[in-house]
Amino acid sequence: MAELRLVAALRLEALALGGRVQVIGMGPQRAATARLRAASGPIAVAMAGVAGGVSPEVRAGQVVVASELRTLDGRVRRLPGAALLAAELERIGCRVSLGPIVSVPRFARAAERAELGEGGVLAADMESAWLADTLGDTPFAVVRTIADSLEGGPVFGGIRALGGLRRVRPALEAWAAAVAPRRVELAAPRSFCAGVERAIEIVERAIDRFGAPVFVRRQIVHNAHVVADLERRGAVFVEELEDVPDGATVVLAAHGVSPEVRGQAAARPDLSVIDATCPLVSKVHHEARRFASQGRRIVLIGHAEHEEVVGTLGEVPGGIDLVEGVEDVDRLPYGDDTPMAYLTQTTLAVDETAEVIAALRERFAGIVGPSANDICYASQNRQDAVRSLASSCDLMLVVGSANSSNTARLVEVARREGCRAELVEDASQLDLRWLRGAGVVGISAGASAPESLVQGLVEALSGLGPLEVAEHRTTEESVRFSLPQQVR
Ligand code: SF4
Repeated sequence: MAELRLVAALRLEALALGGRVQVIGMGPQRAATARLRAASGPIAVAMAGVAGGVSPEVRAGQVVVASELRTLDGRVRRLPGAALLAAELERIGCRVSLGPIVSVPRFARAAERAELGEGGVLAADMESAWLADTLGDTPFAVVRTIADSLEGGPVFGGIRALGGLRRVRPALEAWAAAVAPRRVELAAPRSFCAGVERAIEIVERAIDRFGAPVFVRRQIVHNAHVVADLERRGAVFVEELEDVPDGATVVLAAHGVSPEVRGQAAARPDLSVIDATCPLVSKVHHEARRFASQGRRIVLIGHAEHEEVVGTLGEVPGGIDLVEGVEDVDRLPYGDDTPMAYLTQTTLAVDETAEVIAALRERFAGIVGPSANDICYASQNRQDAVRSLASSCDLMLVVGSANSSNTARLVEVARREGCRAELVEDASQLDLRWLRGAGVVGISAGASAPESLVQGLVEALSGLGPLEVAEHRTTEESVRFSLPQQVR
């Protein structure tokens, strides 16, 4: 935990910020020669004040957090913890934009500032880059509120900007409190599995080969970033096949679909249908049909409403009972002599299903299961990696979307090992309070979460003091699935 050293150029800004603020004066010269008050322990420095808007995107009173500082002579300094601070400011109700700030040597009027907006620059100030040069590796943040937007004048905007400054201190305190030396342990394997890689590649190749738009029934994989990225490339996501126009190309998502949906696809010969169902999900469907053909009642261990489960239930309509936990086993209305079989959703936690399978075996002595555990290699490997790491971490962060089953299971596995664990969609969802006292942070990612999000999280943490990064690998993965004929 570091002491917050809050710095402003003007006394008026310091008054708006409230509390202890060091006023260094206005302009590059003052910033370059500023001497911060001595401290007995680690400090985190934040420069806060008003600034001129450079992008039409920012309005008077709006808060801008600098992701990097630029100067007119081309120097750039990245501020990697900025995304976490921006998220904290949003959490306390500020309207925030995150992006580059350019430091200029003299006051720039709106017409001059409009020319500074290249490369996504949001605002211009006259101190931050030069103050940053004096700080070495000290964690540094820049928060500016817009006084003079490109459209508005400085007087009314100045009042709004000072009003905006009054709100930022709690977020800066939270940011400084999270600053500490830290070690990150990356669990491996993590992130994309072979089924997800295949599904994404199918959509990308379909767009290349058949042209945009390519329609995709439901989320191709359960990750909002993947979906948004494919949308940018030309994919259109729909709920049902009836939403797909005549003659279009449509991809069925990785979690699999029921025979009913396949029937709907077959009834639309105008559509070109490409099936991205993961082969490991198809294997479970095949097992369901095999057990049903043997006259067995099937118990599926899984989570109701999950798309994979809905698809598997549809393989044997009325012939499969879904159980979510041990308590559901007692409620199954079958006698000991009923021929029974069980299957599991591919992405469950191994420990959890082991308990349910044990309860099923106790209740139905003759029950049979799949030839090998249905929990897929990727779910198993990611859980094993988290399990072996969790007890040595103060906090485990799991990257992935909340609707991703295998991601949610990773959080549960870490918690079962007694480790605090949180699911984050990306770095912007990391709550700075979680990091207090967390000297060792484990990071994993669900099978549908891109590795770039993990690296974004590591980069954000690197802005919060010295960071050591190590990888903790429990096994290698080399599984690849072949692509459907249409996109080979
Ligand atoms: S998590 Fe497993 S079952 Fe799901 S897509 Fe990946 S490899 Fe296939």
